[in-house]
Amino acid sequence: MISVEDAIKIIQSKAKDFGIEEISLVDCTGRILREDVYADSDMPPFDRVAMDGIAINYAAYEKNIKKYSIDGMAAAGDPQKTLTIDTDCFEIMTGSILPLNADTIVPYEWINIENKLAVIQKEKVIKGQNVHRRGTDRKKGELLIPIGRKISASEIGVLASVGKQKVFVSKLPKVIIISTGNELIEVDMTPLPHQIRMSNVYQLQAALKQLNIEADKRHLQDDYDQIVTALKNQLSAYDVVIISGGISAGKYDYIPPALDALGVQNHFYKVNQKPGKPFWFGTHQEGCTVFGIPGNPVSSFLCFIRYIQPWIEACLKKEASPQVFAKLSEDLTVKSGLTLFIPVRLHYNENAELLAILMKGHGSGDLTNLADADAFIELPMERELFQQGEVFPVYNFRS
Ligand code: AMP
Ligand code: MG
Repeated sequence: MISVEDAIKIIQSKAKDFGIEEISLVDCTGRILREDVYADSDMPPFDRVAMDGIAINYAAYEKNIKKYSIDGMAAAGDPQKTLTIDTDCFEIMTGSILPLNADTIVPYEWINIENKLAVIQKEKVIKGQNVHRRGTDRKKGELLIPIGRKISASEIGVLASVGKQKVFVSKLPKVIIISTGNELIEVDMTPLPHQIRMSNVYQLQAALKQLNIEADKRHLQDDYDQIVTALKNQLSAYDVVIISGGISAGKYDYIPPALDALGVQNHFYKVNQKPGKPFWFGTHQEGCTVFGIPGNPVSSFLCFIRYIQPWIEACLKKEASPQVFAKLSEDLTVKSGLTLFIPVRLHYNENAELLAILMKGHGSGDLTNLADADAFIELPMERELFQQGEVFPVYNFRS
């Protein structure tokens, strides 16, 4: 049995690159960027008018001129105009290019217009006001978004503005989730007294979907031959095989011997943690990575959130996010000798402290508890008493 830290290290050391593909901007949301994105011009690219009003030359205003005759109209999209007479102005709209010889925009709200004459009503016009100067946001050639960024709506806007119709992103792995167990039936069926509906494959499929991965799924009976035959095919057809259940010490837990027989190299089996102790990790010489995780829905979800998701993100070269910590909202005493992961609800209190409210539930089979929780809190194994207000790492599964 190995520690959580060692399990993470071993799994992360087996991260692999699934390659890069170029996809359309409109399909990029949630994908991991694999090219540095630079400004293709100064941003903004010209002195941009930032309010509707009149464009004046401040030198005239400084000479106490408050009345300006309107020389014409400048709309967004019009080529640049030139203010030839200092006591003239242009009526000008947000998004227009600042006319030559003008430097200041006085908004409509500050002026009165009568007979083609704009009269400034307000006292304090400031030189250069309401002009968004060329290159003040970023200069041409400056880095705007680094490799590894998870592309969200804000990055999409920047990518569009620099003309990236196509974007290089990490290719996604081909993943299959396999559930095992004779007691499991499909969602649309009514369970007999000894049966339950399979749930965690759907849960894992949804968790993968949040990483943009459309995983296949397959159910196998607790039948050694069926398991070996199916896994043999899947090891060569997929980059990642996640097997739920059949991994423990039960008489019908055929996954470890089946993987062994198929030549999957085991890097560890069993982690000093609760839930999720019987966790099996290996790689196949043809390239497939195999995660064998316990079937209990809380265990399988924890293994996904704490190990599989970070591994996938490392494979996709996602930039690291800072570890989140939260304060325990109550005392807790547990004697386990294992690293504990407890579902918690996260809540910011009035001092902007992140509190972890324990949702103890009824153990690793209590999946209903997950619907009320936001994260797992990780409590170290060498301790028995955990005090209210102490800070521990949390793994948020809702963000
Ligand atoms: P196992 O890891 O196969 O020993 O299963 C542990 C427990 O989790 C058993 O009570 C199973 O019925 C349950 N379980 C296994 N797979 C699933 C699944 N896909 N959905 C819901 N419960 C499951
Ligand atoms: Mg089972």
